Amino acid sequence: MKTKRRKKRALRPKTHTDRKKHSSRDPQSRIERLLAFANQRDIERLPDDALGEAYDFIFDFVRGDAKGLSVEEEEPRSGAALLRLQEALCSGLRQGVKLDRSPLPGGGEAVVSVFYGWEVSLEGLKRYVLRGQSAYHGTLRAVLLAALADLIANDRAKRLAMCQRPTCERFFWKKDTRQNYCSKNCADADRQKRWRTKETVKSNG
Ligand SMILES: [Zn+2]
Repeated sequence: MKTKRRKKRALRPKTHTDRKKHSSRDPQSRIERLLAFANQRDIERLPDDALGEAYDFIFDFVRGDAKGLSVEEEEPRSGAALLRLQEALCSGLRQGVKLDRSPLPGGGEAVVSVFYGWEVSLEGLKRYVLRGQSAYHGTLRAVLLAALADLIANDRAKRLAMCQRPTCERFFWKKDTRQNYCSKNCADADRQKRWRTKETVKSNG
């Protein structure tokens, strides 16, 4: 296996100051880091130090405000393992974020009996709860998806979003609830494309 070459020690966090920079205490930066991780391309080819940082972030993210955390890492740390975590994360985000744009049959708001969001089953996950605190225990994949599920469920203002430009589809956090694109670049490109399509239709018809 390719991953055997990687040394575990190289993946340990180097300094404590590095970790504080991405502290989960600030909820906004916690979300933005998560979306950056979801959007990161070629994650399976990250150099060792970036790989270590990505794992640090995941642990920081799943820990949230909890004082302790017990996670079983189901496989050795590697780019391939990180890619699988990223894929699971993106799939959850896509289902939790994209689907709730589609109108319900008959219109109106979602009701519990017709659930059409992200249905996630997390086997072997335990939750420890104390007043004002909670923590999960389970595999890294399960605790990560549980933390993501909490994030999506708490996003009442629907600010978590996926870029509407079909060739982009990056995840982003809306600064303004009407924002449909991750960047001005995508908004402009998509507007231009729609305009050109309209012109082609006109000249053909
Ligand atoms: Zn975009």
